[in-house]
Amino acid sequence: MQSKFLIKLCRAAIKAQANSFSPYSGFCVGAALALVGSKRIVTGANVESASYGLTCCAERVALFNAITNGDRNFQAIAIASPGGAMPCGACRQLLAEHAPDAVVVVVDSRKPHRYFETRVADLLPLHFDGSALSKVKSSLRHKT
Ligand SMILES: [Zn+2]
Repeated sequence: MQSKFLIKLCRAAIKAQANSFSPYSGFCVGAALALVGSKRIVTGANVESASYGLTCCAERVALFNAITNGDRNFQAIAIASPGGAMPCGACRQLLAEHAPDAVVVVVDSRKPHRYFETRVADLLPLHFDGSALSKVKSSLRHKT
């Protein structure tokens, strides 16, 4: 993937950090999703809850934002945070299900010219997916 495009995506993720709601940790994360066949970029930022467990990461906010607007095909996601934190397990699972072929770009928002590039498939190989559930549905149909 062209570095010029990835740098643009990183800039969008860094800009999205401004919308982070993180009064408890102060850890602002932004994510930017690139769609297949479109120049549109869908962004998200982390939203914290006082209960901590209900907090939602920027990657999932961006993904849910895109999905609930009808977007289904993703080619890349950039994730920006201080220090360039990698996606958590929950985000890796959701990305593996909804953007299995996407490029993942992790950027330290304090050093935006340097980024780490990988792929969703490399972040979570052999992931759980809907095929396991369809096998259960299939066996339930045979019992009735
Ligand atoms: Zn996460």
